[in-house]
Amino acid sequence: MTSHYPNLLKPLDLGFTQLKNRVVMGSMHTGLEDRFYNYGKLAAYFAERARGGTGLLITGGISPNRQGWLLPFGGTMSHYGDVINHRRVTSAVHQEGGKILMQILHAGRYGYHPFAVSASNIKSPISMFKPRAMKESEIIKTIRDYGRCAKLAKLSNYDGVEIMGSEGYLLNQFICSRTNKRNDQWGGSLENRMRLPLEIVRKVRKEVGKNFIIAYRLSLIDLVDGGNTWDEIVTIAKALESAGITLLNTGIGWHEARIPTIVTSVPRAAFREVTKRIKHELSIPVMASNRINMPEDGESIVASGDADLISMARPLLADAHFVNKAAAGKAEEINTCIACNQGCLDQTFSMKRSTCLVNPQACFETELVYVKTNRPKKIAVVGGGMAGLSCATVAAERGHDVTLFEGSDDIGGQFTMAMNVPGKEEFRETVRYFRNQVKKTGVKLQLNQKVNTADLNKAGFDEIVIATGVAPRTPKIPGIDHPKVLSYPDVLRHGAKVGHKVAVIGAGGIGIDVSEFLLAEHSPQPLENWLDEWGVDLSVSEAGGLRPPKREQPLRQIWLLQRKHGKKMGQGPGKTTGWVHRLALQHHQVKMMGGVEYLKVDDLGLHIRVGDEEQVLDVDNVILCAGQESVRDLLPTDSEGKITDKRFHVIGGAKMAGEVDAKRAIKEGAELAATL
Ligand code: NAP
Ligand code: SF4
Repeated sequence: MTSHYPNLLKPLDLGFTQLKNRVVMGSMHTGLEDRFYNYGKLAAYFAERARGGTGLLITGGISPNRQGWLLPFGGTMSHYGDVINHRRVTSAVHQEGGKILMQILHAGRYGYHPFAVSASNIKSPISMFKPRAMKESEIIKTIRDYGRCAKLAKLSNYDGVEIMGSEGYLLNQFICSRTNKRNDQWGGSLENRMRLPLEIVRKVRKEVGKNFIIAYRLSLIDLVDGGNTWDEIVTIAKALESAGITLLNTGIGWHEARIPTIVTSVPRAAFREVTKRIKHELSIPVMASNRINMPEDGESIVASGDADLISMARPLLADAHFVNKAAAGKAEEINTCIACNQGCLDQTFSMKRSTCLVNPQACFETELVYVKTNRPKKIAVVGGGMAGLSCATVAAERGHDVTLFEGSDDIGGQFTMAMNVPGKEEFRETVRYFRNQVKKTGVKLQLNQKVNTADLNKAGFDEIVIATGVAPRTPKIPGIDHPKVLSYPDVLRHGAKVGHKVAVIGAGGIGIDVSEFLLAEHSPQPLENWLDEWGVDLSVSEAGGLRPPKREQPLRQIWLLQRKHGKKMGQGPGKTTGWVHRLALQHHQVKMMGGVEYLKVDDLGLHIRVGDEEQVLDVDNVILCAGQESVRDLLPTDSEGKITDKRFHVIGGAKMAGEVDAKRAIKEGAELAATL
């Protein structure tokens, strides 16, 4: 037994099989599982995580039939022909000493296609397709389809299956009266509503025999009206145990819930309490999940007996070698998931392949490969923000002699501001990770070094990478140099004093960050305050675990402004996170205004025109969050902006300021470094 994280890393004996530790890579849709020609990439992706020490892996959701598709032509296991693709995955994982379950997911009314079915024909607020209510004969056929799917999974050499029964998918739709209005034997009483999942578990067990893992992911807190009460959840969990499941996994919240469950502002391990409560009701092992992203959190949960296993999906996307690093006592080398969703879920919901903002190799294991160089070069990277750090550390890891010049006294660039925003504390982990990578890979870091082109030329570098990032844009508004006006770095980096009434010019990601910074009392927000703000009752005494929120009076009065009409504020930050920011700002009574024309700033405040009406916002400060401009003065270019010296390269915000985000910056840095 290792001395580091002894509880998290100790084996778990399931009787017929053993897991080498308590770390489970939870199911996550990557997009690779939907196309047969991507199974080689999927195999490499899982093999990397098995090699990295993960005890148990779970695939993204695979449908048992066409009605259950999440997306048109989504991954399905319904024919013997499907076995061939899946065997590529299982054999790759087994070769690395790992174990893997296939998740069976029937999307029900979350299916983004016209064949979607559900318990009743009630449309979900997050899908454009209204489902058809299943006929009884279809329910019986669906049970058979689950059985066949599990049998084929066994034939594909999976170590088990996970039946997805949470997050608002089909089985959750049957279990909850919110979506089940049937009056036959599959609806009405709890006994009837839970009949389908129980029949499925029994059928699957019959098809796969005793020595095969069946995990069931049960929603322990639905976070929607018409969800289940705690007593109902306990009854279902016990019935599932009796029906023959091996493990129970924690599901938190339906996808349509308007309460965040995984974004970065959700406190770490926020839901461990509900897992703990179910654990004490059952004798089978129980898995905790949601916002657990570092080994110390997992260790504390297992050590205290709140759960037997820790499910982490995104953290293992971010770092495939999470477990090996933890076991070696090198947790500081873990590339921590910052729960931003930008590289993973936002991609999935845009029908693109998942990857990871902090790890561009994720899901691209066979395409973005860092090969050791046999021709080491002398490389300069100018700028210690995300693009420069990514480029410098990958180039050095490949064996190049890399010098990283940074004009300020620390690395991190824009992240050093983002990490000061309450709810974004996780961004510190990325700066910590790169600090270690710089040391580990031998990058020569030169802080407080404002180099010029002549210095770079003199030093005889073979390659010069300009990663000088962006500077805040100063809009041309009369009175812009009035003392009331501050830039966002003044506020987020330099701690400028800000009054009680504030106008924020620009409602992009940074305008929202600044508003949240000015409204928060604590960083990080204590769990109790977070539960109060969002109205979450972890005792689930009322259906769904909802209760009336308790909110303090806002610390400041804020106007968040943009020139555009119509467009929702905060759309920049991403599909899966924008709504959380918008709701949080509403909780704090922020006045969001679009279609604004800025007239001037003077002692009275900010003068604006909206439509035909002029008004003065009587504010103490005006904070500029009006986007960015590239800093690229070191780049030798001709009159058309083309680079004139072949040794020079440009990446990140310096290349293009518009839409720059850390995902693009880190990816561009790594991709360039892989080719130098
Ligand atoms: P942004 O998202 O492009 O927003 C810039 C804002 O400034 C817009 O609201 C724009 O709206 C306004 N603006 C632009 N030019 C202006 C002008 N001349 N005068 C007045 N207003 C002007 O940029 P950002 O907020 O600076 O963010 C930079 C990048 O970092 C973005 O790509 C963003 O996605 C990323 N980021 C992401 C997060 C996150 O949570 N994921 C957080 C922070 C930053 P109008 O033109 O309508 O006025
Ligand atoms: Fe985590 Fe963001 Fe990477 Fe997704 S993209 S795994 S949320 S760091």
